[in-house]
Amino acid sequence: MKKISIIVPCYNEQEVLPLFYAEITRVAGLMEEYAFEFLFVDDGSKDKTMEVVRAFAEQDERVKYVSFSRNFGKEAAMYAGFTHACGDYVAVMDADLQDPPALLPEMMDAIKKEGYDSVATRRVTRKGEPPIRSFFARCFYKLMRRISKTEMVDGARDYRLMTRKFVNSLLELGEYNRFSKGLYGWVGYKTKWLEYENVERAAGETKWSFWKLLLYSIEGIVAFSAAPLAIAAVTGLVCCLLAFVFILVIIIRTLLFGDPVAGWPSLVCVILLVGGLQLFCMGILGEYLAKTYLEVKERPIYICRESNTQPYNAE
Ligand code: UDP
Ligand code: MG
Repeated sequence: MKKISIIVPCYNEQEVLPLFYAEITRVAGLMEEYAFEFLFVDDGSKDKTMEVVRAFAEQDERVKYVSFSRNFGKEAAMYAGFTHACGDYVAVMDADLQDPPALLPEMMDAIKKEGYDSVATRRVTRKGEPPIRSFFARCFYKLMRRISKTEMVDGARDYRLMTRKFVNSLLELGEYNRFSKGLYGWVGYKTKWLEYENVERAAGETKWSFWKLLLYSIEGIVAFSAAPLAIAAVTGLVCCLLAFVFILVIIIRTLLFGDPVAGWPSLVCVILLVGGLQLFCMGILGEYLAKTYLEVKERPIYICRESNTQPYNAE
């Protein structure tokens, strides 16, 4: 019997986990031809998430868990899920029921019958989300499509069903700064996109503030595009050319009309402008350097404090 592993990153999800568990076991019951593994990754929750998960594990041997020593972020939680999942198919799903488990049979059909390697989901509406957040999200995806070769889809969620081959490829990307929407696109394969309307959180509250999302998007840009560096270089070049033309103009003007001393305000403006540009470009450079620094330290992506399962060895 083929096995499906469901990876569920959880951070302070005590309220919603019982609802999620009820729903996922219901869906698993409908898919009798598969064995299941529910892999809860507790991302250093501060509430009773672990107690709830342990209680599930006691009465259901399909429930596995990995608990982190602190909060490492959803990306780390998903990575831990991939390393521990032993199924022939692997799905990632949020605990808050915003990724409807009921889509699973349809996703499985696309892999089995239509021959896809992974089935991804995207929401076509951003209903229930603050308008300003949707606006910036749209801008981000537009920008990414321009400056990165890796395909990233607007409204894509992390909810996905993948074959073992796809997961093994993902695991080969062991980078520290993980931006999974880009990683999925980078590994390629044939992916089918399912669309659905945005569902609101079943209980509890979102862990993503606007600020966290902004930093996350910068991570995405730095990880999947070197365009900001090129833009900095081009801006520098344009400034140089402008300065050169300016110098010529001034020399000719001085020769023709003499040199009446004036124009210090314009001088200050130019100094400020150029100084600002230099700092900005250095900032861009610094951002890449910082990411490289974190990467070469080769720190582990997560630290496991407690678990009832082993990292899975694919061979
Ligand atoms: N999550 C996590 N670590 C974090 C933040 C979130 O594992 O540091 C999990 C969270 O428990 C949930 C999923 O990631 O299962 C999505 O989080 P959330 O629903 O808060 O994000 P949103 O749906 O609002 O984008
Ligand atoms: Mg959510």
